[in-house]
Amino acid sequence: MNDRLNARLSALPSLDRLLQEPRVQEAIAAHGRALVVETLRAVLARQRAELRKAASANGSASSSEHLVPRLVEALEASLAAFARPSMRRVFNLTGTVLHTNLGRALLPPEAVQAAARAEAEACNLEFDLEGGGRGERDTHVESLLCRLTGAEAATVVNNNAGAVFLALNTLAHGRDVPVSRGELVEIGGSFRVPEIIAAAGCRLREVGTTNRTHLRDYERVLKERAGKGEGAAAAVLRVHASNYAIVGFTASPTDAELAKLAHAHRVPFVSDLGSGSLVELAKWGLPPEPTPMQALRAGADLVTFSGDKLLGGPQAGIVVGRRRLVERLRRNPLKRALRLDKGRLAALEAVLRLYLDPERLAERLPTLRLLTRKPDEIEALARRLAPAMQGFCGEAFVVEVAKCSSQIGSGSLPVERLPSAALRMKPVSRKDGTRHLQSLVASLRVLPIPVIGRVHANAVWLDLRCLEDEAGFAAQLRKSP
Ligand SMILES: *Cc1c(COP(=O)(O)O)cnc(C)c1O
Repeated sequence: MNDRLNARLSALPSLDRLLQEPRVQEAIAAHGRALVVETLRAVLARQRAELRKAASANGSASSSEHLVPRLVEALEASLAAFARPSMRRVFNLTGTVLHTNLGRALLPPEAVQAAARAEAEACNLEFDLEGGGRGERDTHVESLLCRLTGAEAATVVNNNAGAVFLALNTLAHGRDVPVSRGELVEIGGSFRVPEIIAAAGCRLREVGTTNRTHLRDYERVLKERAGKGEGAAAAVLRVHASNYAIVGFTASPTDAELAKLAHAHRVPFVSDLGSGSLVELAKWGLPPEPTPMQALRAGADLVTFSGDKLLGGPQAGIVVGRRRLVERLRRNPLKRALRLDKGRLAALEAVLRLYLDPERLAERLPTLRLLTRKPDEIEALARRLAPAMQGFCGEAFVVEVAKCSSQIGSGSLPVERLPSAALRMKPVSRKDGTRHLQSLVASLRVLPIPVIGRVHANAVWLDLRCLEDEAGFAAQLRKSP
């Protein structure tokens, strides 16, 4: 038996012999010699292991016929799997427009081009083209942000968590920050208000209760003295409880009341909006969301919000407000650690420019375009795609067009829903229903452009609100088994 194994092992082609194969040569041209040699070694090692295993189990190993083509095929499969990028395009048919796990806001072409140019070529990132001296990277977006929000000054960092962190660390390091117990929220699992306050080196002073917080609750903390006339509190923080709603017996002071109280005690009022919309969403029939403009008008000294939530831009944290405070933020060494890179800065500038023409915004800004898509249009799309989906699912499922409701996502407006339409796939037989659902979800996920939907009420739902590439979606359904 050992003799037979030895004969088979020595019948394996050598690495050099395989490297002569024309298809291996092609692989070298595509992937480079080093990777091909390394992969071929692994393929041969796998083959040897298989032969030994078959010999010890006293079974028969696969025949040595067509051995070379089979090894070459194994090489090609390994290389193809390795060459596939880890980060790939998907179809977000979850019904959540700003889906944190699926990349949040989609950039308009203007922003994509601006980012690509900034990345590929030298640019005046920190260079003053007029005077010829050193420039400041915030200048590329500051005047646009001031114009759009009415703020005196603006600065941008890596994300909104970074913006809140920088503001607190700059204004209140080592001191107290009163926050309402109703606003100690967690957003997306990793941003938790108490933890960010502690990480910024500040002491959280919880005030009020979960459902009701009064002005006097803040006042009690603001009246405490640290010594030498200085208050213990260094800023009042308001956090927009964006991803949940407290309803019923509730109370909280208005922004204007909080600002007035903070100013009476000579501390800034900082408002973290999370998802700052720069337009009144009600104009498009969408649920209203507090805007940075409103917060500033009510007296907030600094307002922080994300670039890639309702704003519809790249990941960024935006701070707008008083010039004196924004300048203090810029001087904090952490600003450098949190700064925004040139690609996203260029993309943000391009997105902000679209806001200068609000009338065309809903066509040009993908986030707003998807949020304002008409249910009738989505339903018509579902009707056109239902037959192809039925073909893809086979007889085990009934495919129907069903009404559903989309969410804005990313912590916005959790209680408000947008009427939409979905392809709904229900298993025909009740038996093994869950297994069928899971296998359909998995086969959608392994398509060339993975399709991500959701399982609800014993069916797979694909909310078509965010499907704009109808042809691309339909084509891969037809090609698949
Ligand atoms: C989303 C959100 C954050 C975090 O913003 P990122 O841009 O995700 O870092 C902070 N605060 C609030 C209120 C939010 O909604």
